[in-house]
Amino acid sequence: MGQEFTLRLLNVYKETIVDGVGLRYSLYFSGCSHACPGCHNEYSWNPKHGTLLTFKKLEEIAEEINANTLLDGITISGGDPLFNPTEMLKVLKFLKEKTKKNIWLYTGYTLEQVKNDEEKKCCLEYIDVLVDGKFIQALHDPKLKFRGSSNQKIIKKADFY
Ligand code: SF4
Repeated sequence: MGQEFTLRLLNVYKETIVDGVGLRYSLYFSGCSHACPGCHNEYSWNPKHGTLLTFKKLEEIAEEINANTLLDGITISGGDPLFNPTEMLKVLKFLKEKTKKNIWLYTGYTLEQVKNDEEKKCCLEYIDVLVDGKFIQALHDPKLKFRGSSNQKIIKKADFY
């Protein structure tokens, strides 16, 4: 494939149990405009941070995912992966088609905001679970599983519409 991305990868965790149900392969992308007070990683806000993603790198990632039979799924986080939805759509489609794994995506937008935006909405097709909403410090609760504040919702695909 000759095309490349304009997205930048901040981190890759090849096996994690904190980014969703089961053992997951997590990809963290830079770029976020929400500026939540108390954000876990302000460095991730700048879309110029991180390493430029290429199709070659994404192919390697998909191969790595397919080689690890212990993995339950993939998690896409950031930053906000929907900061650049046109590019993210290509990543989601590629990973879904190559790995067939369930995909969790963390975004600072609410599900309603995603559905009301033509570009972001297209990404829902390849997402199995959306963790939505900004991080709100006053609603932070360390006991919450897979989310930082109680306003954030873990929404399965069946409940997107
Ligand atoms: S959406 Fe996430 S990455 Fe963006 S500012 Fe809020 S907590 Fe930080």
